[in-house]
Amino acid sequence: MAKTDIEKSFQTLKSTIPLLLKYNIPAIPTNYALWYTYVSNDSPQLNQDIDENLQKGYPLSVAKTKELYRNYLSEKQEVDAWQLRQSMEAMLLEVSQSMKDTKSDTTEFKSLMDANLDNLSKVEKEGLSVTEVMALVRKMVHELQAIRQKTISFSGSLVKAEKEIESLKLKLQESQHEALYDALTGLCNRRYFDSEIESKIGIDKMSLMLIDIDHFKIINDTHGHLMGDLVLKAVAKKLQSGCREDAQVFRYGGEEFVILMPGADLQKARHIADVMRRSIEKIAVKDRRTGNVLGDVTVSIGVAQRTKGEQPHDLVERADKLLYKAKTLGRNRVMPIS
Ligand code: GH3
Ligand code: MG
Ligand code: MG
Repeated sequence: MAKTDIEKSFQTLKSTIPLLLKYNIPAIPTNYALWYTYVSNDSPQLNQDIDENLQKGYPLSVAKTKELYRNYLSEKQEVDAWQLRQSMEAMLLEVSQSMKDTKSDTTEFKSLMDANLDNLSKVEKEGLSVTEVMALVRKMVHELQAIRQKTISFSGSLVKAEKEIESLKLKLQESQHEALYDALTGLCNRRYFDSEIESKIGIDKMSLMLIDIDHFKIINDTHGHLMGDLVLKAVAKKLQSGCREDAQVFRYGGEEFVILMPGADLQKARHIADVMRRSIEKIAVKDRRTGNVLGDVTVSIGVAQRTKGEQPHDLVERADKLLYKAKTLGRNRVMPIS
């Protein structure tokens, strides 16, 4: 994202937060997206709809919010979500910092006033002043007390807003995590892969492997879906532990995985693939209900090294063709052979 874009979304978000607080709108990402779009005025129809609702003088209901989101945002959302989260993180950091600063300022202010109040009451008690001074002092005490009261409640609302922001941050982190990771295996997901391969394609000697579990449907049919899930987890774990630090494993879909190996040529990647293939042969998953141990898990792997100028899509396709070849040749093997 260009710097000006970041600044723009930053400004928009700064205006979004107070709106959420003002209308007491729950801090969930969809609401953020909705009000963010409202502030940015990207969708005039949405603004009109919200304004009409607000003019009626009542807050947006959950049902209305859902309807607005569905009507104006759900399709566009995919594209914007990432940008939105990025800028939101940056903004939340700033807001929560300034909240912290303000809070300590007001605490200081409060102790300063407490000291003043003490002094003033002393003057009053010791009867050192003439009537006029006394009147003045009383007035000051009164005013200071009022300010003190205000400051305490201000401080309270800051603490509340800060808590709100903390919980928002957590929610954002969760949804960011969900967007990029696969819940079953804990691996990075397909979406993550798509963006990683785009950004890393130019790295010297980029190799890629596509891994597909053999006859996985039979495993599911014979042992049940839950056992199938355990096998997926076990395979994911083996792939992960067979990778060097700079290699990245992704769940590509169903029972398919993909590994990006920057800096590995075809020969090296093939070798690593074969080590992984053999380690997967050793998987033994115990069925707790029957006590049976499920073995014979095998995978087929297609490996390809990027040729000069090759696009991500073409590299994946070459690996996929090799994977298909490994399947037709009888499975449980790595292609190409050398
Ligand atoms: P091949 O050796 O040719 O790859 O055969 P296969 O049976 O592995 O391939 P196929 O594409 O026919 O079946 C894949 C199966 O994977 C079908 C689908 O139900 C199952 N599957 C996909 N995702 C999951 C999942 O998350 N959990 C479980 N248990 N099964 C899944
Ligand atoms: Mg498959
Ligand atoms: Mg399969």
